[in-house]
Amino acid sequence: MVLDDPAVHLDHYAMRYAFKKMKKQISKNPIKRKREEKRIKNLKKEGRIVKGVEIPKGALPANPDNQDHGHGYAVKFSYTDISYTCAGCGKKGIWTAEQQKKYFEIQKGNIYNVPRWCYKCHSRRMQERDARKRCITIR
Ligand SMILES: [Zn+2]
Repeated sequence: MVLDDPAVHLDHYAMRYAFKKMKKQISKNPIKRKREEKRIKNLKKEGRIVKGVEIPKGALPANPDNQDHGHGYAVKFSYTDISYTCAGCGKKGIWTAEQQKKYFEIQKGNIYNVPRWCYKCHSRRMQERDARKRCITIR
């Protein structure tokens, strides 16, 4: 087993997570079991099974392989819109599921990141930070 391979860790944690959920779901009653099997088949058809884990209805499926998920500890199986209040101006905003997918899977953003600033305040803060950095280098 290659310990440095993040995929190995991911499957391990995803499986453990799925198993925990499955234990609850699978019944000894053959009728219930059959119904559950049918449900899982439908979920697969709808694309609502990611790495063996059921994701909520309406959520955007994630591709955990592309995330920097801290060896499976913070892996995300799906994304949903997150509403937040900007810590700078107090304006309410929404971090959409599509934006999160792009941030976590393409930009490889910090998996623990939560939205705190609106776009306007964020870019102002970044400008201020860059200005401060420039001052330090000039000196
Ligand atoms: Zn703001």
